[in-house]
Amino acid sequence: MALRRDIYGLFENVVGPENMSDDPAVLQSYMYQPFGAKEGVWADISPAAVILPASTEEVVAIAKICNRYGIVFKPMSTGWGMHNLPGVEGAVSLDLRRMNRILEIDEKNMYAVVEPHVICMQLQVEAMKKGLNCHIIGAGSNTSVLASATSVVGYGPDGLSMGFSGRNLLGVEWVLPTGDVLKLGSLGADSGWFCGDGPGPSLRGIMRGWEGAWGGLGVFTKCAVKLFHWNGPPELEMKRTPPNYVLKEPIKFFKVALFSFPTIEKLAEAALQLGEAEIGWFVSRLSPSFVGLQMASGANYVATWNSGMLQEMLKYAFLFVIFANSEGEFEYQQKVLAQILEDTGGQTSPISETKEMQELTATAVIKVDEVTRSCFRTTGGFNTSFGAMDTVDLAMSQIKAGRELKDRYI
Ligand SMILES: Cc1cc2nc3c(=O)[nH]c(=O)nc-3n(C[C@H](O)[C@H](O)[C@H](O)COP(=O)(O)OP(=O)(O)OC[C@H]3O[C@@H](n4cnc5c(N)ncnc54)[C@H](O)[C@@H]3O)c2cc1C
Repeated sequence: MALRRDIYGLFENVVGPENMSDDPAVLQSYMYQPFGAKEGVWADISPAAVILPASTEEVVAIAKICNRYGIVFKPMSTGWGMHNLPGVEGAVSLDLRRMNRILEIDEKNMYAVVEPHVICMQLQVEAMKKGLNCHIIGAGSNTSVLASATSVVGYGPDGLSMGFSGRNLLGVEWVLPTGDVLKLGSLGADSGWFCGDGPGPSLRGIMRGWEGAWGGLGVFTKCAVKLFHWNGPPELEMKRTPPNYVLKEPIKFFKVALFSFPTIEKLAEAALQLGEAEIGWFVSRLSPSFVGLQMASGANYVATWNSGMLQEMLKYAFLFVIFANSEGEFEYQQKVLAQILEDTGGQTSPISETKEMQELTATAVIKVDEVTRSCFRTTGGFNTSFGAMDTVDLAMSQIKAGRELKDRYI
């Protein structure tokens, strides 16, 4: 449904003609999503126009025009998922790519203030220069820090040491659906960005609850997120070319290992014990295709995959990374881990001991840059069995059910 020309003109007055479009070719480029099926998928509903605001003031002005004329608006940060598109005809998409600045990194209080289009990799590079690091969601380092913190899910395998995006969220600037600006946490009391709750009752639950409102509650224009201690080098120097690039030098007190277990129950027991022992930096139930990628490329990868060897070897496996602050802590964590493996029948896979695997996997887990290749290469869709954002017990029963379904139907 086309936007009335006079209303189009009002939006244009806010952002300038070069920052708005309703050209069908441009709109179509927003409607495609490469994941989900081998050939990708197309959205059923096109936005009526795409608008690119550059500031909170411009977002406010757009929201007010939308309210005056009864137009639905939907924000997107990096637009990784179809869910960033409007679900009704006649709505406008707000593409926030021009709001891409890291506004502050507070080294002492360990937080960063970001705009919506700051991606995790951008923040990680700047944070590492100051001995800090940020949580990166499993979808990868090309996603928006702010979108995960304020609006959608927020988990990833480094959550073992760096938490969940929703809990890492501190002060927030929020343009409500009405166009009013609300400041949450300490920011609301003009006291800076350091705290996500108060003054008075916290609105964090209303803002995102467990999973976020997926763009249904206005536009978050700035937020602060917690940063974490980084014991590695201030700059990650790489060798070789992407996607096979690796760290030039190994990182001290950093060890990657791949473990497999005799049964899913034993894997669950090990996961629980690791949680109780509070050791580890990164944990991920492994997709065999991820390991396959580290071992082989191109035609070799297909041959390795078709042999079924990886799928069998990694039936009940996970990748576990220790990254300690000192030699003593490194030794302690390894001892605890060895005890847990002994108790649960876990075996270290010989593949993970190779120099090649250590190098490639260390790079992938620090930068979280392997997701699209490892998840989608074999089928075009997610190729792992289901997981769950719940207790270990529930996750295990979902994994079992997912496996059975896939074995039967795929
Ligand atoms: C292949 C794949 C893997 C994924 N894996 C994970 C994962 O491991 N962990 C995880 O947490 N999520 C995952 N997701 C879900 C989700 O896509 C990501 O959380 C998302 O990528 C977050 O960043 P983004 O910038 O791409 O968000 P976008 O796609 O731009 O937006 C995500 C949602 O948030 C809303 N939104 C974005 N910016 C704002 C804003 N400034 N104000 C208000 N609302 C906003 C959008 O309307 C949309 O509904 C995955 C998605 C895909 C397709």
